[in-house]
Amino acid sequence: MGPPGSGKGTRARIIGKMFDVPVITAGDMLRDAVSKGTELGLVIKRYMNLGELVPDDIVIATVEERLSMPDVEKGFVLDGFPRNINQAIALDRTLKRLDAKVDYVVTVAARPETIAARVSFRRICSKCGAVYHLKDIVPKVEGICDECGGTLIQREDDKEEIIRRRFEVYEMQTFPIIERYSTVGNLREISGELEIEEIPSVLEKLLSPRD
Ligand code: AMP
Repeated sequence: MGPPGSGKGTRARIIGKMFDVPVITAGDMLRDAVSKGTELGLVIKRYMNLGELVPDDIVIATVEERLSMPDVEKGFVLDGFPRNINQAIALDRTLKRLDAKVDYVVTVAARPETIAARVSFRRICSKCGAVYHLKDIVPKVEGICDECGGTLIQREDDKEEIIRRRFEVYEMQTFPIIERYSTVGNLREISGELEIEEIPSVLEKLLSPRD
């Protein structure tokens, strides 16, 4: 969990690789729905482009459907979910159904200047959602995704006024629910300021397989 642009998505993907488990990224699933251009996609887009949370019923149904797939049985990383109290309650219910528990809550903290720079340089692949940074994670061919050849674009909600709103939403709705999942000893904070190469070894030290 962390504010927009803190680097939580990058860290979530690295954790997924470390433990060889799927990473369930709420924002990616919603962007995927938008790119399909369905009526539901249009509704989702309206909220995302304003920096507001997408209504709970839509997000909860999307995540629950993903969590009913068999590959989550060996564990999973949630990125960008839950983001408010209703979603947290829904997750409690799902975890109970899966007979699963939260091993770690990883929070990411970064300075406002770092976040502003990261967001303004961030580009994502319009096809597969891979994330680039015009200075730090540069694609081999300008404007083209290394993974799938898709076109790189700036997210509509990475524009300055919208980012400000996303920040407020994080502070008001998401930050307060962190403690719901933190039990003694499971809370880990990782810096959002690290160079990309440093992240795996820091995470290796922070997280170890738990019973
Ligand atoms: P992210 O990619 O995590 O920065 O999310 C981008 C946008 O997707 C957010 O500003 C929200 O509009 C929407 N979104 C992502 N996750 C959620 C969620 N759990 N609940 C509601 N909206 C979400």
